[in-house]
Amino acid sequence: MKRLFVKTYGCQMNVYDSARMADLLAPLGYAATEGPEDADMVILNTCHIREKAAEKVYSELGKLRKLKESKARSGGGMLIAVAGCVAQAEGEEIIARQSAVDLVVGPQSYHRLPEMIAKVTRAGGQALETDFPAEDKFDALPQQNSNAGPCAFLTVQEGCDKFCTFCVVPYTRGSEFSRPVAQILKEARHLADLGAREITLLGQNVNAYGGEGTDGESWSLAALLHALSRVEGIERLRYTTSHPRDMSEELIAAHGEIEKLMPYLHLPVQSGSDAVLNAMNRQHTADEYRRIMDRVRNARPDIAISSDFIVGFPGETDEDFEATMSLVREVGYAQAFSFKYSRRPGTPASTARKQIPEDVKSARLEALQALLVSQQQRFNKSCEGRTLPVLFEKPGRKPGQAVGRSPYLQPVHVDGAEQLLGEIHAVRIADVLPNSLRGSLVSAKNREAALTL
Ligand code: SAM
Ligand code: SF4
Repeated sequence: MKRLFVKTYGCQMNVYDSARMADLLAPLGYAATEGPEDADMVILNTCHIREKAAEKVYSELGKLRKLKESKARSGGGMLIAVAGCVAQAEGEEIIARQSAVDLVVGPQSYHRLPEMIAKVTRAGGQALETDFPAEDKFDALPQQNSNAGPCAFLTVQEGCDKFCTFCVVPYTRGSEFSRPVAQILKEARHLADLGAREITLLGQNVNAYGGEGTDGESWSLAALLHALSRVEGIERLRYTTSHPRDMSEELIAAHGEIEKLMPYLHLPVQSGSDAVLNAMNRQHTADEYRRIMDRVRNARPDIAISSDFIVGFPGETDEDFEATMSLVREVGYAQAFSFKYSRRPGTPASTARKQIPEDVKSARLEALQALLVSQQQRFNKSCEGRTLPVLFEKPGRKPGQAVGRSPYLQPVHVDGAEQLLGEIHAVRIADVLPNSLRGSLVSAKNREAALTL
């Protein structure tokens, strides 16, 4: 028995990939362990989206090198692999900067890990694999064998053809690719058998999904969601991350038609200024985004909206930033992520002349985050006193406590509910905490009514 420690950085797609790498290495005798100390192999599954995320990897590699050296002194060994988007973007440079690294593997080629491990253990040296191979990675991966838990991720789409001028994804994840419907349905049924009750469909541009359907035609994300809603055992569906340009009428309508599709939409807008959106190559205006919001809210009036924002994009003026603040005030977000613009090598915006000073970026981020936090608190407060169906996901910190998710993705703590993991129960929301809600179970007789939102 060998031990494997996988450390995951970045997005949910990396969380999914990490689990698949663990599945892939299980037949080689690798079982998961909690830390690098007792690991025979460590995989850092990395993120390249912002400078800070990428730099974290090199500081972690420095620590791992020391651990590897101390293991070698006592006659042991440890393989170090760098996977994910830093591996794809920096390839050879990682090996040059950190000689303790044995394997570098990009997100499209990690199905080749077993042969790479065999090569370095047999012949020594280092192995690098950052092609976008022609064969389908998903066909080569084994069936998932790790218990996904009640809430599972399922990657249905990868890559991006949109080339926003700030973003590395089109370079690290390659062009848009959608998995066939039959493959996805098979994986969803298997996840349900393993105990999943909620599936979040993942893709860098998930609503650009256009995989081969069971009739041989190309299916939209809406059609895929309808098919998945019929999978027995799956009670909830979500999808992320979407692009406003691909928010079709059919997908918007699906929010009103599919009961299992949760009333939560993460639709990043990045900026409220048309000049900035244009410079970012987002290919829509702020008003087009507002109209999408109106239509989505028409289809599903209680939907909770989330977004990503970038402040301090090159050339962003005070007026541009104010346009973002106005958009936020108008839309009203239940939750959101906001970042300072980070210059990424190889992207067009990184060489733009009008870079914004760091102190201006910080001040704008602070103002935006204060507004977003107040909106999140207002949204959470509006749930106080309501009864919501909660899918219990994991034990809480206190004995007997369970933590679950509301339909709006809020974490909900409930005492005395640990035995209910994997089940959906009606919970009366009593308190709003800074990052979560606290509630109590509703008696069985009120359950039926409460579960219908
Ligand atoms: N595909 C999604 C979309 O089009 O909105 C976004 C995917 S990206 C992995 C996640 C978020 O990271 C983006 O929405 C953006 O807000 C942020 N991001 C990407 N590149 C960035 C950069 N160079 N600086 C700061 N934030 C960035
Ligand atoms: Fe990056 Fe999303 Fe733009 Fe693609 S659409 S380039 S993933 S921000």
